[in-house]
Amino acid sequence: MFTRDDAEPSPRFHKPLLSIGSRQCRFIVSESTRDAICCGSPTSEASSWCPWHEQVVFTPRLSERDRHRALSYARSIGRPDRQLRRAA
Ligand SMILES: [Zn+2]
Repeated sequence: MFTRDDAEPSPRFHKPLLSIGSRQCRFIVSESTRDAICCGSPTSEASSWCPWHEQVVFTPRLSERDRHRALSYARSIGRPDRQLRRAA
């Protein structure tokens, strides 16, 4: 889903979470959430994330067929399982 125009943002924008201001990407790039470091790249006015991380955060729309599959999978795992009931 990435186009050539969207390059991964430069680490030079990285900022601690607490000093992230408006129009700075707040996607956490550090491994730990303690002393979290955010991406800090410029964002569009309406977004909390830079274009790169917006694509990471928002999953692409599913096709009708994949949506149907995902729904039936979700229903199947929501159904009480006989073996689990017997074990309880
Ligand atoms: Zn970002």
